[in-house]
Amino acid sequence: MMNQRLKIEVRGIVQGVGFRPYVYRLAHRLGLVGNILNSETGVSIEIQGAVGAVLSFMEALPAEAPPLARVLEVESSEMNLLDESSFVILESTRSGSAATLISPDIATCPDCIREFFDPADRRYLYPFINCTNCGPRFTIVRSIPYDRTNTSMASFTMCQRCQSEYDDPFDRRFHAQPNACWDCGPQLQLVDRSGAPMEGDPMDVAIQLLQRGHILAVKGIGGFHLAADAFNPLTVQELRRRKGRQEKSFAIMVAGLATAQELCSVDEGGAALLESPQRPIVLLPKISSRLDYAAPGVSHLGIFLPYTPIHHLLVGSHGLRALVMTSGNLSEEPIAIDNDEALDRLTGLADFFLLHNRKILLRCDDSVVRRIAGKTQFARRSRGFVPSPILLGEPVPPILAVGGELKNAICLSRDRLAFVGQHIGDMEELSAYNFFRESIRHFEDTLEVTPHIVAHDLHPAYLSTQWAKGQHNVRLVGVQHHHAHIASCMAENHLSGPVIGIALDGMGYGTDGNAWGGEVLIATYKSFRRAAHFAYTPMPGGAQAIREPWRMAVSYLWQPFGSEWRTRCPPALLSNVPESSLRFVEQLLRNGSLSQLTSSCGRLFDAVAALACNRTEATYEAQAAITLETCCDPSTGVGAYPFSLSMSECLQIDAGPLFVALTDDISHNISPGILSRRFHNGLVKILAEVVNSVAQESGLHDICLSGGSFQNRVLSEDLETSLSMKGFNVFTQTQVPCGDGGLSLGQLMVAAHCVGGPVV
Ligand code: ZN
Ligand code: ZN
Ligand code: FE
Repeated sequence: MMNQRLKIEVRGIVQGVGFRPYVYRLAHRLGLVGNILNSETGVSIEIQGAVGAVLSFMEALPAEAPPLARVLEVESSEMNLLDESSFVILESTRSGSAATLISPDIATCPDCIREFFDPADRRYLYPFINCTNCGPRFTIVRSIPYDRTNTSMASFTMCQRCQSEYDDPFDRRFHAQPNACWDCGPQLQLVDRSGAPMEGDPMDVAIQLLQRGHILAVKGIGGFHLAADAFNPLTVQELRRRKGRQEKSFAIMVAGLATAQELCSVDEGGAALLESPQRPIVLLPKISSRLDYAAPGVSHLGIFLPYTPIHHLLVGSHGLRALVMTSGNLSEEPIAIDNDEALDRLTGLADFFLLHNRKILLRCDDSVVRRIAGKTQFARRSRGFVPSPILLGEPVPPILAVGGELKNAICLSRDRLAFVGQHIGDMEELSAYNFFRESIRHFEDTLEVTPHIVAHDLHPAYLSTQWAKGQHNVRLVGVQHHHAHIASCMAENHLSGPVIGIALDGMGYGTDGNAWGGEVLIATYKSFRRAAHFAYTPMPGGAQAIREPWRMAVSYLWQPFGSEWRTRCPPALLSNVPESSLRFVEQLLRNGSLSQLTSSCGRLFDAVAALACNRTEATYEAQAAITLETCCDPSTGVGAYPFSLSMSECLQIDAGPLFVALTDDISHNISPGILSRRFHNGLVKILAEVVNSVAQESGLHDICLSGGSFQNRVLSEDLETSLSMKGFNVFTQTQVPCGDGGLSLGQLMVAAHCVGGPVV
């Protein structure tokens, strides 16, 4: 039989994740000889044996890799045969160089859970149990190389038994950096608001306090949560009051799938996401109104399963069936991570604090996903996924992209990999700005990348833009917001364009200084042309119009009806808004030049929601759009509201006819569900029509959909279906959010292609 020897280079997350013992076992199973060692860029394998067995090895290598491993590239080359009789693990000359990747934080694995609940095990109920396949990673790393001395576990010296597990390549805790036990590892502490320790077992007492309706701050993996019994409406209302969170939904951690299924419809895809090692919050369709006080006015609940040993005790057989678990912060501030910081910042929010002495070095909020059209969509990409890179279609120079303002996340590139950072949040205050700088510093340090190009949004007032402009010795590239959205979609789909991009969102700074947000672009990475957009409409009062959707309603009614608009306006809206405010907005509209102009799709949703659902105020971002999506009637064949098209410097989509038809319907008492359906149908129809006409003129057939409005399931699914049925190739985002959380990836790719162009 023919023998063969291959040299194999594996790149990706392959160090500190049990990859070498895995390859050792695989080689033994297939009767192969050779060796493996950690290299600068991943692992390097030499394998020798029968040609068929070598082939099986190559097939199994990525397919059967351990859960934390992420194989990005495998390269192999033929070598001369050697006289060898075994497979060996070789010591690497340099361990954990920058080119090896740090794993994200991973939920406690089934093996550890088994030990955790086994009274005979030495780690029985030990709240920090972990192994090579699970536990904290990203959030405990201070610097590289990734070994224990550079993590927040450095202050804990392993006991003999832990050390020998750590040293044994065949132990399931081999090189598990956070390895610990009751004797040598971190410990829990339960304190009251003054920081004084509570008597008794911290875990037992914590569970009792939760059962009695108290609100606890619980230190987790990437920060503190505020925890409260989800089935206790009074406690949840109290948490709402303390957090200053009027209506926005809370995420619910449930004991297991069974509880999830009582509350929500959980299909196979949803269950797989819930139980995945990343354990994101999954937005699932409500089937019960039981927790409506935790998530009012929405069709979906954010559900997640326990992902640390502490969670497994708080929720589950020993504790409660469901907990509200919300970020330990006030409104949109960054999540608290330090014990002292928590006691200081969360003292008005929590009654008691469940602390521990393993430091969280990096903040990382929970990730949020949902299933749309059979695909997973990120609303927030953070814990469990960061810092896993996105594989690009081509290598790019080292670039830092700083993202936008809301839902900020940065992005840093190294060769073919783009590292999108954790969710920073809304960069409107100093604490978020500091977190932003922390995130940049950490990614530059741990990836050993010094970017000489910095990409930023065009908005001059964004803190991210201002930070970029303060950097020296770098080339700055300003990227238009919606161009970045489309480039982000192109990047994760490995497209180089040109494509037709539909970018729909709340707002982004346009090249003409107006607030864009309903754009059809023809784009490559290097450049874009605006092919169509929603007709400009005044935003009376600027940012005030975002918080008060009725203002956009008046603005949209003003266009067809002028000062007669009140005769067309539903009386409910008129009685909901103070007369003085109505008069003020009328004045603004009479003098058009006083208001900023917008082509935003989000503001169009606002106007329709204010009229159709009497949603005159928004207490959180996108609430009006969510209200419309939630009430949308599933009936088919109920018609679509008309838009009109006109041509000036490019195609203009005018919503005037829509508002005539909508207000007609309202005066005939048509239900909000049907109004919403006709609006969604109209939107999909006009966008498909515009794409058709742009495609005919340009000959393009690849369509990219991006921007925060595509978090709307009805719009997303219906538009994708409609375009696919017309024969277009439709691309959406599954690796980074389509909202502003994915902006930096697009900025980075645009910058990569603009190098050599003029310095902005
Ligand atoms: Zn484990
Ligand atoms: Zn130990
Ligand atoms: Fe946006």
